[in-house]
Amino acid sequence: MASLVADGIRVIAPVRAKDAPERADYLPIKRLEEADFAGPLPRRSLKEFFLPPSEVLLCYRLRKNDVEIEEIPITSPPKVLLGVRPCDAAGIEILDRVMGWDYRDELWFGRREATTIVSLACTVADDSCFCTAVGLGPDSTKGSDVLLAPLEGSFLAQAVTPKGEALLRRQPLAPAAEATDIQKAEALASTTQKKVAKNLPTVPDEMPAWLAGKFDHDVWKSIALRCHGCGICAAICPTCHCFDIVDEHEHYDRGVRRRNWDSCQTTKFTLHASNYNPRSSQVERFRQRVMHKFSIYPRRFGAFLCTGCGRCSRGCPAGMNLPEVVGQLIELARAESQGGSR
Ligand code: SF4
Ligand code: SF4
Repeated sequence: MASLVADGIRVIAPVRAKDAPERADYLPIKRLEEADFAGPLPRRSLKEFFLPPSEVLLCYRLRKNDVEIEEIPITSPPKVLLGVRPCDAAGIEILDRVMGWDYRDELWFGRREATTIVSLACTVADDSCFCTAVGLGPDSTKGSDVLLAPLEGSFLAQAVTPKGEALLRRQPLAPAAEATDIQKAEALASTTQKKVAKNLPTVPDEMPAWLAGKFDHDVWKSIALRCHGCGICAAICPTCHCFDIVDEHEHYDRGVRRRNWDSCQTTKFTLHASNYNPRSSQVERFRQRVMHKFSIYPRRFGAFLCTGCGRCSRGCPAGMNLPEVVGQLIELARAESQGGSR
């Protein structure tokens, strides 16, 4: 830790709020003691370290018959994200697919390349977690460069990528763990895994195709009844990534082009200039969020746009619960396959 700080590498880790111990955030630290690796899941995910809530893309100046563009230099200072939950690390790997799909987002990948993600196998699961249902788990290595597993008074470190190996080479490490240490770490992961698996059974592979045919199903009306479109679920989600790009005119002859987070849950997200809104009710907007995560994205990229972190359920002021919603849809799919009707 000290050598990283001395080399000017920013270290970010979960830090518990002094005035509210039930709350934690991923924050810059200078000393390891500032971090709390056994605390609650940080309120916001990791995505803001790669896709900030608001950022300037370019500056422009209006000339007599022209527009002068000033590009913003892409700088990505080196960072280590330490003690990350495996569901948060997985979110970054899932987003790599969309950020490099039809256009390579250099800002995203610049920050990705400059960042090493060190995850910590999770032992703190609650009733909202469902990572196991979407093919992940409390000791998943997806998106991580290093995975740490907690042992009594120490950690078992596993390099997952060459970047992770390079980070571990900087540390004076004790020799490879005894077989018993590995067994202890696996037993701990398996206990958490079993606890999480009770919250939601596996989301079946057939779900994306089944959902694609349910656009007009009546179930959406009952499911979305309580949602009032605040968009908190999308803001704290590790995989929601929609943004809006606006030109902000700041002076009579100049301004900036800015990218801001946006969410399909808000009324104006799909509002056309003509005032027509193809998703005019919250039923359609909530359906869009579920469809994007469990049908549209998996059919395009082969992975659910969800890591099961459960933040959307914990943070929702209306008490919407995504594992319950998905569970209800799975039940419906099962009933239909057994001969029931819609
Ligand atoms: S599900 Fe909850 S958090 Fe998300 S938009 Fe609806 S009310 Fe807000
Ligand atoms: S979903 Fe819960 S149990 Fe799974 S990795 Fe995230 S915080 Fe841990």
